[in-house]
Amino acid sequence: MKKAIITILIAGFFLASCTQKPTEMDNPLLSKFDTPFGVPPFEKIKVEHFIPAYEEAMKAHSLEIDEIINNTEPPTFKNTIEKLAMSGKLLKQVSSIFNNLNASLTSDKMQEIAQTIAPLTSKHYDDISLNAKLFKRVKLIYEQKEDIKLSTEQQRLLDIIFKGFERGGANLNDEDQEKLRKINGEMAILKLKFDENVLAETNNFKLIIENKEDLSGLPVSVIQAAEKTAKENGLDNKWVFTTHKPSMLPFLAYADKRDLRKKLHKAYIMRGDNNNEYDNKKILTRIASLSAEKAQLLGFENYAEYVLDVNMAKTPEKVFSFTNKVWNAALPIAQAEAVELQKLIDSEGGNFKLEHWDWWYYSEKLRSHKYNLDEEMLRPYFELNQVRDGAFMVANKLFGLKFIERDDIPVYHKDVQVFEVLNPDDSHLGILYMDWFPRSSKGGGAWMDAFRKQEEGISPVITTNFNFTEPSGDKPALLSIDEVETTFHEFGHALHGLLSNCKYEKLSGTSVTRDFVEFPSQFMENYSTDPEILKLYAKHYKTGEIIPDELIEKFKNSGLFNNGFVVVEYTAAALLDMYWNTINDTVERDAIQFENDVMTKMNMMPEIIVRYRSPYFTHIFAGGYSAGYYSYQWAQVLDADAFSVFKKKGLFDAETASLLKDNIYSRGNTEPSMDLYVKFRGSEPKLDAFLERNGLN
Ligand SMILES: [Zn+2]
Repeated sequence: MKKAIITILIAGFFLASCTQKPTEMDNPLLSKFDTPFGVPPFEKIKVEHFIPAYEEAMKAHSLEIDEIINNTEPPTFKNTIEKLAMSGKLLKQVSSIFNNLNASLTSDKMQEIAQTIAPLTSKHYDDISLNAKLFKRVKLIYEQKEDIKLSTEQQRLLDIIFKGFERGGANLNDEDQEKLRKINGEMAILKLKFDENVLAETNNFKLIIENKEDLSGLPVSVIQAAEKTAKENGLDNKWVFTTHKPSMLPFLAYADKRDLRKKLHKAYIMRGDNNNEYDNKKILTRIASLSAEKAQLLGFENYAEYVLDVNMAKTPEKVFSFTNKVWNAALPIAQAEAVELQKLIDSEGGNFKLEHWDWWYYSEKLRSHKYNLDEEMLRPYFELNQVRDGAFMVANKLFGLKFIERDDIPVYHKDVQVFEVLNPDDSHLGILYMDWFPRSSKGGGAWMDAFRKQEEGISPVITTNFNFTEPSGDKPALLSIDEVETTFHEFGHALHGLLSNCKYEKLSGTSVTRDFVEFPSQFMENYSTDPEILKLYAKHYKTGEIIPDELIEKFKNSGLFNNGFVVVEYTAAALLDMYWNTINDTVERDAIQFENDVMTKMNMMPEIIVRYRSPYFTHIFAGGYSAGYYSYQWAQVLDADAFSVFKKKGLFDAETASLLKDNIYSRGNTEPSMDLYVKFRGSEPKLDAFLERNGLN
């Protein structure tokens, strides 16, 4: 395998020297990274390096595959399964760098490359999973699996690789394989386009405020941030709000001007639905139709069946049953919340019906009436670096990890922080990048990914991305509670990547089923706002005073406040996803009509808009969460159940922490998810802790 890469590099060298194209010769993506811990040499990588690097890496990978199938010796686990699992390293290296940079530092050029590359990589991977000779070898080994001596991890690898071929269409006839290739190729391009459109629509809208009166109700810090955004847009003495959440949510919560709240929220919920060049409606219905067609080619009724077949939940019925149970319990709670908000509106003499652009504003008011608590009272205790250090402290107390900030490691943007992570014995564990603030070149939301995944002998290089409140004026970045939880959430994913201790990259870190992957991340969220933990890290950014007990008390008392809204907003999206992916035909529907019908069927209340409307539901139409958005809630059952053990035995109970590390955080996908959970917990998870936490029992 190594030989193949070297051969191709030499071929590339000759090609370069005779055609005088120095870029191919000096392509840093194709050379060994001469950096600390072998992280990507960001300062050397130029946009024009990607396409030649992809081309070389795909060629190298194909040669490795040829080597496997042309082996004249009988197929064995080692010469086929293991070799296959270890192949394509250069391609993974190039694509992980490209994909991560395209997500957090994109440009027109990068998007153009993505559009060029998507069909090529789609074809490349289809060429492998539809390679009959290769499948024949894999199948032969799979059929003898009872007779060969394999470790648990090797058995798992064999199962997953075999299943991957089946699911990739290896059993189809030539004609159907051709259809599948076309579907995969078209889907790859459509998904990219969908994502790009959402980013463009998010960047395109600006609420420009020219009169000071229109800022009425907004906290000073929010006004300062809006002034900064205006300046960045070349506007003096004006204020700009955008549909990026750190800008939009405070405006919705505090702006007294109702018509302006309406304007901003409408802009947010209409992204991708404006009948302009960035409209996503046709794209998403085409994706839904192609998904159904693909599922049926592969012998499933619909795409959800295809996806769930390898998840913990197994069938759409199980997901619907779980999600509907939550929905039915949460809807009346949210309806009661709406009644309370309406009462507040009426008591103020507001002569109107509560609408979705009012919810944040009146719930914030009600929160401060009821609990004498305003989100802004909490922010000073959650300065970004302190919150980050709070998360590091929890990982230290649970797993003994240490985090050392390094300024000698290349970064791709000046705002990115980078840490070396050390084991309890001070040996190197991995690298962690943290990229905190929004910019127009970065996708929305928060996510974790890897520049390099862990495998035997190779340490992980993990990256986390956020879109948080920025420092403004003389204030550092002071986070909202939601942002605090998000920090711990993504950090939980990062730990899953960092603590991974697997032999094969294919099974390592977060390569688990979609409805298990949010468990290690959400588990960490429990620590972010636990009173015992808050006392350890939440300190006033100016005075250093530890968050006072009475503030924690108020915060705790208001814990379930507005939770009906939160659960309904989320669950509606989980169900919308399931309806899109249980379509049993390939008819291309009217996207808005379909969405409306689903909402009507669910009795969705008009005062709440589904967390993601279809035209900007990137999780399911661009990311890997099709028939998988329910996963967050599903995994909440696991994390609530798991955290209840720590609540009982102590938040840093050493024995429980080591069970958690040894069976969950370090194990990747080396055994089925439920088996791993039971090994940690001693039994399957019960619903109780989840229902109680959400006030649904
Ligand atoms: Zn997550």
